[in-house]
Amino acid sequence: MKKLQMVDLKSQYEKIKVEVDASIQEVLDTNTYINGPLVHQFQADLEKYLGVKHVIPCANGTDALQIAMMGLDLKPGDEVITADFTFAATVEVIALLQLTPVLVDVDMTNMNISLEGIKKAITPKTKAIVPVHLFGRAANMDAIMEIANAHNLYVIEDNAQAIGADYTNAKGEKIKVGTIGHVGATSFFPSKNLGCYGDGGAIFTNDDALAHTLRGIVNHGMYERYHHDVVGVNSRLDSIQAGVLKAKLPHLDAYNKARQDAARKYSAALGVNEHIIVPVICDTCDCHVFHQYVIRITNGKRDGLLAHLQNKQIPCAIYYPIPLHKQKAYADSRYKEEDFPVTNQLCEEVIALPMHTELDDEQIKFITDVVLEFV
Ligand SMILES: *Cc1c(COP(=O)(O)O)cnc(C)c1O
Repeated sequence: MKKLQMVDLKSQYEKIKVEVDASIQEVLDTNTYINGPLVHQFQADLEKYLGVKHVIPCANGTDALQIAMMGLDLKPGDEVITADFTFAATVEVIALLQLTPVLVDVDMTNMNISLEGIKKAITPKTKAIVPVHLFGRAANMDAIMEIANAHNLYVIEDNAQAIGADYTNAKGEKIKVGTIGHVGATSFFPSKNLGCYGDGGAIFTNDDALAHTLRGIVNHGMYERYHHDVVGVNSRLDSIQAGVLKAKLPHLDAYNKARQDAARKYSAALGVNEHIIVPVICDTCDCHVFHQYVIRITNGKRDGLLAHLQNKQIPCAIYYPIPLHKQKAYADSRYKEEDFPVTNQLCEEVIALPMHTELDDEQIKFITDVVLEFV
């Protein structure tokens, strides 16, 4: 059996080596390391793929979120609602910009931000909502946009985990996740669904004026060389990473399909066990692209399973072990434990199994046999 890994980037690379190497070589041959033609080509390719007017490449997904928020007219003290159950980057940038993060619980079925939670958290100071398409599954964007529009709030999608996922709206149209809110942010961290070989990120928007603002912010607030109109940052996608991404983008749909296929096989084997809750997989759309394959262990044996899998050399991980409202940096006296029953429970029950584009049947059978035998 091939060695088990949480993410197998090496086997994936070997299949696309010719394209990736040629792209990197092009950057070396043309000496265009910063803002080179490959950055612009990748940007255009991604705009076309996503069906969005503007892609603004930047240095990483955390920057993408931060810059997206810097581009909106938000002031210190404005409240920004986001999910308690996500990676810390989401809430970190809110706090860094001196906005006030307001964490709300998530839904048990999709592990995404709770609509009831959002509604309850809205105050006159609320200015934005940041839904996270967690583990690759689209949040309920129709309902989130409806709430946002009713209260005049911005929606900033944290799409670091769900690039390529389709959201089917109430009219039956398929829209790429990350392009539905006012602005979306993604990460090209190597293990993400579209990953480069270093750090990278991008911001998406259909708003021409906002795109213009964001293009200046990523480049020291310059709209004209050496004229600094706003306080900006230095956040660039370098040309080598853009070259890797340009070579990988044509494979993204096949990569997401491979993840969905692996997820179906996992679920077919694990779903029969009464103590294992497998993720809901929709047969009619691609609303879940399985950045992670996360199951819940409901009989209190999650930590035991983690140790057991590690003993058997099966990589696994807990995303996320501690709710954000319990983190020192983000604790707030306004939060009450009873406001976060689902996140608290998920942190005790979730475990992520290996998920990547190169999983084969033998590996999945081995992993699921070990899980079932223990649970
Ligand atoms: C990975 C990730 C980020 C940050 O992306 P980086 O490129 O690592 O900065 C932000 N939000 C979520 C939900 C993520 O998974």
